[in-house]
Amino acid sequence: MAAVVDTLRLTAEDALGLVKRREISPAELHAAYLDAIGERDGELHAYLRTCEQPSGESIPIALKDVISTKGVETTAGSKILSGYVPVFDATVAARCKAAGLTLLGKTNTDEFAMGSSTENSAWGPSRNPWDPTLVPGGSGGGTSAAVSAGLAPWGLGSDTGGSIKQPSALCGNVGLRPTYGTVSRYGVVAFASSLDQVGPVAKTVRDVALLYSIIAGRDPLDSTTVELPEPVELPAGERLDGLRIGVPKQIESLAAIEMGVRSAFEHALELARDLGAELGECDLPTSYRYGMPCYYLIAPAEASSNLARYDGARFGPRSEAATYREMVERTRDEGFGPEPKRRIMLGTYALSAGYFDAFYGQAQKVRTLLIQEHREALSRFDVIATPTSPTVAFPLGDKAADPLAMYACDLLTIPSCLAGLPGLSIPCGLSDGLPVGLQLLGAQFGENTLFRAGQVLEQAIGFDTVPERLR
Ligand code: GLN
Repeated sequence: MAAVVDTLRLTAEDALGLVKRREISPAELHAAYLDAIGERDGELHAYLRTCEQPSGESIPIALKDVISTKGVETTAGSKILSGYVPVFDATVAARCKAAGLTLLGKTNTDEFAMGSSTENSAWGPSRNPWDPTLVPGGSGGGTSAAVSAGLAPWGLGSDTGGSIKQPSALCGNVGLRPTYGTVSRYGVVAFASSLDQVGPVAKTVRDVALLYSIIAGRDPLDSTTVELPEPVELPAGERLDGLRIGVPKQIESLAAIEMGVRSAFEHALELARDLGAELGECDLPTSYRYGMPCYYLIAPAEASSNLARYDGARFGPRSEAATYREMVERTRDEGFGPEPKRRIMLGTYALSAGYFDAFYGQAQKVRTLLIQEHREALSRFDVIATPTSPTVAFPLGDKAADPLAMYACDLLTIPSCLAGLPGLSIPCGLSDGLPVGLQLLGAQFGENTLFRAGQVLEQAIGFDTVPERLR
């Protein structure tokens, strides 16, 4: 008889234990998640498609739809890739397979991972399990909503400027954006290649660390990857003695940060101090002043180049026309939604002759300053702490008509992405009944430090990751 599992509460670590002790079979576990999806995903739309048959001998996993999966349609949330069925697995998908993980399904994303709410998905938005009238964040809103609603024990997202950390914050999950170069992007639909990273989303820091250990490491198929300098450690501490935490002094005067977010953040800092951490102030002046404009030049510039490959000749549907040129024009016009079109235009403009130095060139210089100021801060502190998102989850439609308001969601996540540094978001409390995320940033390859600090704080905070309305 199948063990009864409460997928809402089950961590990946618990699920692995059940399978290992043969208290549940991988097929029964897969079926339990499909049942939960059947029950709750009609409302949430976390998944674009599910896989009915378990393919591995371990526990299930959800993958964001930017990750190529052999034989399973991969659209990156775009009409221009509808019907595209990859003939190969992305390296991260292959590593999950090699670890025995079973693909549960592909999760919703803003089109080409461009957005902060999943409302830019060509297939309709996902909804926040804490309150379905609200967005789950983005672009990886599907994975976060799935983990939060017990529709997957864990999942993978991709993060260019905040797409793992921000939805994790808004849905009450733990999410890691790893150090640039530690996880392969081979087979991951490219958005901005100097920024894109793949990373785990789960209910606990230990689950995130475990999944990171499965996907990280050099891949000959992605020349930007390196071997990890030290193995991933599963954290299990109780104190933070000696940990130096820097809080950017700019946080205090950032008007965009809501009061409720601020108080949950400050509460987490007090707990950290009680647990033995040494708190101090660091200075990141360029980050919060120029981080966003810098990102919104570099990311669209790279996107305009990466998206040039969708020409109707190779992937996805093709619009018929009399000439090749017309075919490409019509395919791109009909296939791309408004946000990718906006980014292609912004990026092409920033790269064009006569404007290159003023925009793209200037942004690259700002990026160097960001790298320097983070390096300086992280020479004095082990970890930098900020809120992950300036706000809690917001209503669907609230920012959809205002691209700049949507871009501002990533004010706090963007600077460290430009600097290539790892960031962990953990839930640190509620504001008006909605989850608030604490962002911990570390030095290059500093994931183990983030896991240690995150796990101790997670224990102390005692956040219940199951949305109140589902308890
Ligand atoms: N919201 C940011 C953007 O729209 C970041 C997205 C991401 O990290 N993929 O570009």
